[in-house]
Amino acid sequence: MSSTNRVIDTDLSDYLTAVSLREPDLLKKLRAETAAYPNAVMQITPLQGQFISFLIKAICAEKAIEIGVFTGYSSLCIATALPHHGRLVACDINPKWTAVARRYWQAADVAHKIQLRIAPAIETLTMLLDDGQCGTYDFAFIDADKESYEAYYESALALLRPGGLMMVDNVLWKGYVFDPSHTDSETVAIRQFNQNRHQDRRVDISLLPIADGITLVRKRDSF
Ligand code: SAM
Ligand code: CA
Repeated sequence: MSSTNRVIDTDLSDYLTAVSLREPDLLKKLRAETAAYPNAVMQITPLQGQFISFLIKAICAEKAIEIGVFTGYSSLCIATALPHHGRLVACDINPKWTAVARRYWQAADVAHKIQLRIAPAIETLTMLLDDGQCGTYDFAFIDADKESYEAYYESALALLRPGGLMMVDNVLWKGYVFDPSHTDSETVAIRQFNQNRHQDRRVDISLLPIADGITLVRKRDSF
């Protein structure tokens, strides 16, 4: 099962899991089922999922958006932490993987909170902005195709309210971002994304070595 981090040391990861992880049975079950997929490594780690739930509760988020659902681990973490009337827009292009997610959303009794949009995420984001939802989201999670991160970020930032939080996944990209020998399009995109955020005065940021690296972004009140 996918439970390890890609960048941090395995002993440390084991210790964090032993003293911090409180993974609900349904999430364990989803992780076990997803392990049968060849690309199971795409799933976020359980500690990261727990951290997402923590953040959702800490900021009392009610409205969230996720870009990259896969079999639904992160969306379950978000949706279960939202209040009963909370809403999550979940974006993906793959009906097969998200069918698994739908099953688990139902089992967790959170399906009523989740609106799945099967379309290229940039189209969904543009639609939400055109629909006047600018500045209305409390939380955004970006975890889809890496070459589009910058575009997802700009749209998600526009959707966030001032003080809203965004989490961007895989920003250390297996350590490739700090190894100049890696020049593939995904590494280059994430490297550029990280540099752009460092200069981005519209937000407060913190890049954390959790799982494959996450950047936490807080939208500033005025910029
Ligand atoms: N957050 C998920 C989890 O916790 O298991 C993992 C997401 S996985 C890394 C990336 C997902 O992005 C895949 O399910 C893929 O179908 C989706 N994806 C790839 N390109 C996309 C696009 N252009 N628009 C929307 N989703 C896309
Ligand atoms: Ca990821």
